[in-house]
Amino acid sequence: MTGAKAAMEISHWIEPWGDARFPVDVDAMAPNCHTTYDRDDPITQIHGAPWKGVDGFLQRNPDNAKEWWLTYSTNVRPERQRFTKAHELGHYILHSQKQDEFRCEPDIITEKDTGEPDIEAQANQFASYLLMPANHVRPRIERVQITLELISELAGFYGVSFEAMCIRVVEITGERAVLVYWDNGMMRRWSRSKSAKLQRLWIEDPKNRPLEPFPGTVAADMSVRQCPEGEIVPANLWFKNAPEGEMLREMKHTSDTFERVLSLLIVPKFEPRWGRDWEENTYDTFDRFIERGQYPVR
Ligand SMILES: [Zn+2]
Repeated sequence: MTGAKAAMEISHWIEPWGDARFPVDVDAMAPNCHTTYDRDDPITQIHGAPWKGVDGFLQRNPDNAKEWWLTYSTNVRPERQRFTKAHELGHYILHSQKQDEFRCEPDIITEKDTGEPDIEAQANQFASYLLMPANHVRPRIERVQITLELISELAGFYGVSFEAMCIRVVEITGERAVLVYWDNGMMRRWSRSKSAKLQRLWIEDPKNRPLEPFPGTVAADMSVRQCPEGEIVPANLWFKNAPEGEMLREMKHTSDTFERVLSLLIVPKFEPRWGRDWEENTYDTFDRFIERGQYPVR
């Protein structure tokens, strides 16, 4: 079972509450989840601890293996605590029949939001789908201009961090959106929406070589810390395969607490699609599938 499917099953129970079910009350849901899966080993305790270095911990009760204990760090903001609880609930539903203990550190929970199908990514996917269901988020980001203010409002509504909400919006949106993370002035990683992938929007992989903000972009402009609605900049400052003259909207968010910058790029649709010379490295099965005409691309 995937994190997405499990989250949809569990979300189903609370749908009758409509908007009032948000932010999702993980504490109330977790002790009942075993019934959905006909299990006799419920989560019996959920408690916070002032930990540093560990965000969440799921373990069997040392005195009774039929019970699970979920512990989360109270040393972080409430929205991070909620995400951690949902992440641990994801381990309980998806992985606890094969493993007796899960110790989850901050990097695991915040960094592995996409990528390899490992159990941490699955637990993150579960948490993200549970707290921000696509069918609820989508109508709120369609037919409106996506801005960082909108994302910030949504993060408040769903009770999640601004970053978690950015990631989810990029996953769900039909726009060509690319989210780029900078740490201490260096690119850390980027992710893109499905439409961005179809448009072949691609930036070099920062794992291959260190990348600084590209000259001329808002990201490179040290005098701008926040740009919630975005500025229009030439698309080929970001995407080397973009045709001359094409523009995109670049937003920027600088974190108050540490030197992390997020760039959110929204790219208009262009015809014909951009060439793929620059992205041989990411030319994957999905691209080949499209290439052979097995998937309709407009
Ligand atoms: Zn974990």
